[in-house]
Amino acid sequence: MLRLGTSVPSDPARPVRRPPGPEGVPEGIARPGPRAAERSEAVNMAVLCEHVNLAAYTTLRLGGPARRFVEAATEDELVAAVRRADEDGENVLVLGGGSNLVVADEGFDGTVVHVAGRGVTRRTDPRHPGKVLVTAQAGEEWEPFVARCVTEGLAGVECLSGIPGLVGATPIQNVGAYGQDVAETVVGVRAYDRRAREIVTLDHAACGFTYRSSVFKGSDRYVVLDVTFALEETEESRPVAYAELARTLDVRTGERVPLHDARKAVLELRRGKGMVLDPADPDTRSAGSFFTNPVLDAAQLAELERRVADRLGPDAAFPRYPETGGRAKTSAAWLIDRAGFTKGHALGPVRISTKHTLALTNPDGAGRTADLLALARQVRDGVREAFGVELVNEPVMIGVRL
Ligand SMILES: Cc1cc2nc3c(=O)[nH]c(=O)nc-3n(C[C@H](O)[C@H](O)[C@H](O)COP(=O)(O)OP(=O)(O)OC[C@H]3O[C@@H](n4cnc5c(N)ncnc54)[C@H](O)[C@@H]3O)c2cc1C
Repeated sequence: MLRLGTSVPSDPARPVRRPPGPEGVPEGIARPGPRAAERSEAVNMAVLCEHVNLAAYTTLRLGGPARRFVEAATEDELVAAVRRADEDGENVLVLGGGSNLVVADEGFDGTVVHVAGRGVTRRTDPRHPGKVLVTAQAGEEWEPFVARCVTEGLAGVECLSGIPGLVGATPIQNVGAYGQDVAETVVGVRAYDRRAREIVTLDHAACGFTYRSSVFKGSDRYVVLDVTFALEETEESRPVAYAELARTLDVRTGERVPLHDARKAVLELRRGKGMVLDPADPDTRSAGSFFTNPVLDAAQLAELERRVADRLGPDAAFPRYPETGGRAKTSAAWLIDRAGFTKGHALGPVRISTKHTLALTNPDGAGRTADLLALARQVRDGVREAFGVELVNEPVMIGVRL
């Protein structure tokens, strides 16, 4: 369960960075001169509602009411709303596009702060030669932002076309697809540090990006205010790194293609898998991939090899993508499918997408979070039983756990 209500991160498993104090600022985190957080104290919250149904704000169309709901249309309003809730000892949930959230049927007993500040600027900086630095406010929608970058001839995010949600959430789980992730281009994240109660800038290293994770994921310390990307000014894409995309584009991996072609091919591939939000397509009522691809060490790989041979025959091979230290990433979708949970598999009103094994969906909007979790547990337990691999959920759980 992620609770954002205290000013101290609540995840005991994660090492906690000491708050910047007079004795020193953590490496990679810069502090500004005037404190915008203090300036914002005079700002009134624009919209404050009570008992707002969160299902309307999630792509799964699931989740009960929020006790309080604040729409923060500017950075100052966002900081003021979070700061006020912290002072009141309220639980806080920072809400973007709701496309990576599973919210309890009971709702959220605290203040939901909906990020809505917009704006994009571009500049050059001698520290990033040959690059254009593009800064987007956290409330900018990601997909139109990517479209704009492609139109303006800026390469680096084109393979992330079609991903729902807001810019501010992209560093949280190091959003990625089709061989790109935001860690490749993010050079700075401005954030409100709830512990130090001030605005800080985290450079790339301080963001701690890893596969579908970062210093922000599982922590409630930072509220992302804006994100700066260093993009290449060119009409050509970054080298195509994903085999399926290369095949679609009829090129070899490592080749470049016109930016618009890369974007178009990614959108086509994603639509075919129900991975572009579309009100007419019930398969898109999901949170995207529900499970991350497991990264296994040598012993786990040997065990999986044995189980795959037992279950599927000696010639069967599972997908294996080498990582560092003898480890390898395998495909969660492959494991789920071979464990017997095929596309369209339903449990009551919820089901696996008919187009993509990794997406759990609430196709008619008739399900409850409890139904979705029952399906997720069935899949997770079935994969564990069949292959001894523990699947981990990708979406953030609010008030529930798998
Ligand atoms: C159809 C579909 C396809 C998808 N495809 C992909 C994909 O290809 N690759 C991928 O990586 N993801 C994918 N996703 C998941 C999701 O779109 C991304 O994780 C996205 O970045 C979430 O953005 P959001 O604004 O909706 O965040 P939300 O769901 O609103 O929030 C997610 C988490 O981020 C936190 N958060 C949000 N904004 C801020 C902020 N400003 N400051 C601090 N914390 C914040 C929230 O508190 C929460 O913990 C997909 C989802 C769907 C529904």
